[in-house]
Amino acid sequence: MKIGIFGGTFNPPHFGHINMARTALCALPLERLFVVPTAVPPHKQMTDAVDGELRLEMARIAFGALPRCEVSDVELRRRGKSYTVDTLRHFAAVFPQGELCFLLGGDMLRTMEQWREFEEILRLATLVAFRRETDEPLEQAADHLAGRYGARIRLIEAPVIEVSSTQLREKIRNGERPTEFVPQGVLDFVIQNNLYGGVR
Ligand code: ATP
Repeated sequence: MKIGIFGGTFNPPHFGHINMARTALCALPLERLFVVPTAVPPHKQMTDAVDGELRLEMARIAFGALPRCEVSDVELRRRGKSYTVDTLRHFAAVFPQGELCFLLGGDMLRTMEQWREFEEILRLATLVAFRRETDEPLEQAADHLAGRYGARIRLIEAPVIEVSSTQLREKIRNGERPTEFVPQGVLDFVIQNNLYGGVR
């Protein structure tokens, strides 16, 4: 039984994220998928910080229609810094027979050795990696982690969606409504709550 875990800031969630979730659900396939908005990401400067509750709500809107998928507040409830290793331990305890599959983008795969207790992460979960750019060379990073630490890694050949939340916050701040990259319901929520300074 494959259990997907998808951590992120989701500030805001976009079609790059949703594409990953859909693909993993159908292609692996996953029995369940938990989308886990992070409290304070250890590796990120939180510019445009948006309260966890609001990001949780945006994630619910964005991922709500996907089958077998639920948004988890496990990292937000934990407070303090969010460490993936703790989240994986949590789900390993909940699904002792499950194979945990941790979804991540290529940028994150390449920094894996800097994550807290990364060898434990690699022991607890299979990494399911998606390219963020069409020609992103991920094989080398995957081979390195597999060869050196025995990591289990699947590189997913899904259509690449070159978008980031940072670009989208910028567009929204400039008064744009990037409906090609953000679900309409999420955009409505952003506008209603005046996130990212886009409402004048
Ligand atoms: P920001 O621009 O604020 O840093 P982001 O777009 O990278 O945000 P996150 O919520 O930090 O979004 O991403 C969560 C996970 O999804 C990370 O593993 C990241 O690498 C991955 N990811 C985000 N966008 C894409 C994308 N377009 N294609 C593939 N992976 C992605």
